Amino acid sequence: MARATLDGNQRLTLIIKAQREIAAADGDLQTVMQLIAERSQAIVEADGAMVNLIEGENLHTRGASGIATAAGDAVRPISSSVARYAIESGQPLLIEDAPHDPRVNQELRAKVGDESLICVPLRNGAEVIGTLNVMSRDADQRLDHDDREILEMLSVVLSAAVARAAQLDARQEEAKALTRFRTLFEGASIGIVRMNRDGTIVEVNPALEHMLETDAALLVGRAFSEHLVSEHRMTVEALLREMMAGRRESFELEGRCQPPSGQLTWWRVRAVRERSDQGTATRAVAMIEDITEHKHAERELIEQAALNEYQALHDPLTGLPNRVLFGERIGQAIRHARRNRGQLAVLLMDLDRFKEVNDSLGHPAGDQLLIEVSDRIRGAIRDSDTFARLGGDEFGLLLPELNDSTGVMPVLDRITAALEAPITVHTLPLAVEASIGIAMYPENGEEAQELIQRADVAMYEAKRESASACFFDQETHQYDTHRLTLVGELRRAIEREELVLHYQPKAMLNNSSIRSVEALVRWQHPSRGLIFPDAFIPIAQETSLIGPLTLHVVAMALRQGRIWRDDGLDLTIAVNLSTRNLLDRELPHRLQELLKRANMPATSLELEVTESSMLANPKRAKVVLGELSALGIRLSIDDFGTGYSSLCYLRELPIDEIKIDRSFVMRMNEEHDDVAIVRSTIDLGRNLGLDVVAEGVETREIWDKLQELGCQTAQGYYLSRPVPAEVLTEWLEARSQLAVATAAAE
Ligand code: C2E
Ligand code: CA
Ligand code: CA
Repeated sequence: MARATLDGNQRLTLIIKAQREIAAADGDLQTVMQLIAERSQAIVEADGAMVNLIEGENLHTRGASGIATAAGDAVRPISSSVARYAIESGQPLLIEDAPHDPRVNQELRAKVGDESLICVPLRNGAEVIGTLNVMSRDADQRLDHDDREILEMLSVVLSAAVARAAQLDARQEEAKALTRFRTLFEGASIGIVRMNRDGTIVEVNPALEHMLETDAALLVGRAFSEHLVSEHRMTVEALLREMMAGRRESFELEGRCQPPSGQLTWWRVRAVRERSDQGTATRAVAMIEDITEHKHAERELIEQAALNEYQALHDPLTGLPNRVLFGERIGQAIRHARRNRGQLAVLLMDLDRFKEVNDSLGHPAGDQLLIEVSDRIRGAIRDSDTFARLGGDEFGLLLPELNDSTGVMPVLDRITAALEAPITVHTLPLAVEASIGIAMYPENGEEAQELIQRADVAMYEAKRESASACFFDQETHQYDTHRLTLVGELRRAIEREELVLHYQPKAMLNNSSIRSVEALVRWQHPSRGLIFPDAFIPIAQETSLIGPLTLHVVAMALRQGRIWRDDGLDLTIAVNLSTRNLLDRELPHRLQELLKRANMPATSLELEVTESSMLANPKRAKVVLGELSALGIRLSIDDFGTGYSSLCYLRELPIDEIKIDRSFVMRMNEEHDDVAIVRSTIDLGRNLGLDVVAEGVETREIWDKLQELGCQTAQGYYLSRPVPAEVLTEWLEARSQLAVATAAAE
């Protein structure tokens, strides 16, 4: 059924007319597109039309007429549009029954209301650049093949105009972009320069004119790099050449610039290649930022950091290197000496009676003295030596690169000479004397700290001997410095009551009753915390300290025993003796005094002695033990089984108890041999009429086993760890209440 009222000729006339009109629109995309839509609709006598251009993945409607204006969104994905079929095939598409055609976007159709439609591709050469859609809403007047043919003809006529208009539009966009660029270029606060391949300036923006304090006209045609100071000029030129040769995309550098006024400024230059349409690089664009202030701030920070470092390594009063720097310098000197097989000396110097100056004349006077001393000594040594203040009145001197220790002598002489004249403080002439300790690398130590410690030991030796200087002597210092400090501290620990006793009960295996406890010493160190006896008893044993320590422990134990007795707890207290104690003829007498002072019977004290300590001097030990026993003090052999005491020797001594060493007891479960040893020790003790105590009982199984073997007494973690007296008191009370309750229940 022919629907058209216009015949073929009339339609052709309309097409030609439309073509003229479009040409007259002079390439304005919007007008051209709108005209195409309207004229197409008129030519096929349809109800609506739209022209779409392809933009990437989308269709952009650039002109619409009639019912097509109801489509709404100007931009739609190609994939969701019926135009997709026309674009893909490149052929015009006739949809005769739009409501039932699966290719039609029904959502869009619902808005537009079309019953039939034609979609014609628009081309620029071979490429499809858009579509022309024409639609009819009349179900009885559907678009047909004739309509499609005429629109195809129209599209051929239109395509060129559409393409031209589209290109023009793009050029206009470009022009706008260029305008935007100009605005940026002119208005930017950073300098911008465009250069030729060879680095000559093509144009500069006003900001750069301002930075260089000159006119663009004077800059154009000259090399950009001229404005940088010579050291940066070459670098910029080289980087520019590389970039223009395509070996790098861009470059960035910081350089100094010399403007005509002479005030040096810092620039950060960022350059990129400017691409032409053909993609070849002909120009370079550089952005220039004035970072002078930033650089100044940066320098201030660096200077501050250097100052901080200086302060961290120097003594504020004298300006001398401090302990940290002294240690570092020694480290360096050691590395140097190691390579060259040389020697070096570390000297520690301490002013005698400086404390008196400080106390009687005040700290400012003390400070003045320290400054004068450091100035004098600084004048007496070489520049390559390091003189440091280590704190208080302690100074350090490093003499690097010595051949041997005789090289120290002339320095000592110069120091003595420097300190010879009295130093006047508050009009008082003060005689200054110093004690110096010397340690040599590599003889006395191979590390900085080691050398400092050894020099320290030697310095105390000098003080003790009232000598002005002393070399560290390995022979007289068989203890290492750590031990020496511990000995010093331990001596004070006794005076300051830092030693405390913990008590561990010994229990009867048959009825679990407690008749005695062992006192075990601990050191409540002010900075190191609780120290166990293994860490300090051996040191005390090597010095005469063990004597006072043992007496101190006995005194504390007896005091506690007195407290328990007053509370109705009748406990024997065992104290451990060391080898040296057994050699002390005075011991029985001293203990007797302590017992009397605590108002305690001798039978309440028990002494634990090891086999090996008795064997150190058997004759003397026998005498002392005899005297102790005569007083009524109980004697126990500790760590039994680890020594070599013979049976007959034991028989000769007034012993009351043996304690099987815990190493055997603890291994009773695993090692058959140990069971045998424990069993025979128990039998031996019984034959000799001695109490047998098993120490180190950690488990119920061992407890039961010992009972089975006929052992009388046990001690160990299973029952209780060594605990402070108050804790033990509570524990004993809780047990006795439990015992009463159990007895009542029975
Ligand atoms: P020791 O006389 O053999 O003391 C027993 C040690 O065994 C204690 O260690 C105790 O805590 C630990 N011990 C007790 N029951 C168990 C157990 O079931 N399992 C295990 N693994 N260990 C247990 P502590 O208190 O560290 O004493 C170590 C040593 O220091 C003592 O050995 C003693 O030789 C010495 N000592 C302690 N106090 C004094 C003292 O006042 N004077 C002297 N001269 N020496 C002391
Ligand atoms: Ca013991
Ligand atoms: Ca023991």
